[in-house]
Amino acid sequence: MRKPAAIALLSLCAAAQTAAPSLDTLLKKSYLELVELAPGLNLPAKSIDDFRQRIEVRRKEDMDGLDAEKKRLQAEADDIHRQLAALNASASTDDAAMAKRRALLHCRLTRNQIELSQSHTERAMAIPVMYDHQLSKLDILAQWPARKQQIAAAIAAGHARVRHWGDIDDIGYRKLGQGQEGDVKLGEDAVNELRAWRMLPPDLDSRPIEAYIAEVAGRVAAASDLRVPVRPEVLATAEINAFGLPGGRLLVDAGLIANADNESELAGVLAHEIAHIAARHGDRLTKPTGSVQRMLFQGISMAADAFTGGAVGEARSAAHDYLGLGVHLNLALLGVNRETEAEAGQLGTQYLWHAGYDPRGFVRFYDRMAGQADHSATASFFRTHPPGGDRALATLSELAYLPKKEPERVNSESFVRVKALTEAWLKAHTSRPVKPQCAE
Ligand SMILES: [Zn+2]
Repeated sequence: MRKPAAIALLSLCAAAQTAAPSLDTLLKKSYLELVELAPGLNLPAKSIDDFRQRIEVRRKEDMDGLDAEKKRLQAEADDIHRQLAALNASASTDDAAMAKRRALLHCRLTRNQIELSQSHTERAMAIPVMYDHQLSKLDILAQWPARKQQIAAAIAAGHARVRHWGDIDDIGYRKLGQGQEGDVKLGEDAVNELRAWRMLPPDLDSRPIEAYIAEVAGRVAAASDLRVPVRPEVLATAEINAFGLPGGRLLVDAGLIANADNESELAGVLAHEIAHIAARHGDRLTKPTGSVQRMLFQGISMAADAFTGGAVGEARSAAHDYLGLGVHLNLALLGVNRETEAEAGQLGTQYLWHAGYDPRGFVRFYDRMAGQADHSATASFFRTHPPGGDRALATLSELAYLPKKEPERVNSESFVRVKALTEAWLKAHTSRPVKPQCAE
């Protein structure tokens, strides 16, 4: 029997009122969506804490699974080496059948090394990042409602500019990052050292793309606290990232341009990097290390991996090229830790705003990258921009503090044209490492 329409409607309304979205559903939403939703949810602190514990349990299960996978792959590699040794012991030279068998074993070893490298990336980067995103989204759900009220109260009381780095009308004139000129040599040495190690992809060498990036970086730098000239450079790589080195060097991957949706997203990432340079985060974190070479890589063995000869070396090198610079660079040189990330989140948002861009550019790009299914494509970006509740809250707070400006620059015809040029260039010049098909 059909319910009368009015009653059906009533019960629908009741269901909508009682059933708040589950935390599982909420964590699939973007950071900007959560900011809209959180104040109306009234989530009990206990349910958030319980969920936090469940996330930690799931993380451990995933990591245990990867551990088992790594052991399996290492055992497989040992087995292949045993088979090669047996082949070598059986005769002084190969006959046709043996040569065929040897080629198959070499192929399987190459495939094994690519799988091992992928499983390492998953373990070291993709899995932690996925769970850290969930935890920082939980932080927003837990802390944003009170934070939002606090900010509204400070603005209403006339105290908005008393917050840390709240002197936004003095950008470029305030006491931030004094002594930047002393960092120029450090940044130059780092770039030269990277070149010497063959770790730096070549310049893209396209006038229109380089000119456009110089224009966007210049616009953001002019609206920032940077006192040294910004020196942008477009790198010929599909890696999705940008790196701000001490003293004004700004390395921009072609893959970043191709993956930004509009100019404000691209400008957002550049503004974040310019904030690290202006606030001298790299200098602050590298001081005790001293030598450029020591502070350049996460570990020198990483660089050595890139030079290992033979088929296995090629496999490693392919995996390395694909993951890119962000996977190997020392985070201290880039000035990345929890505290500096939060500060760069705040300052980058201010520079975007001051340059006339939609200040949500960085967060929007971040949200899209976090939602991507291909974790190896975003491993570099999230290693150098690790998810954390601190940066998310600092950025979102700044968005709430900044006075609204119209019109905000979101996109440009130049961006659309340069993005298409960059995509075409990448399509013609790069390919992902393909796992070999070994004819068993
Ligand atoms: Zn950063």
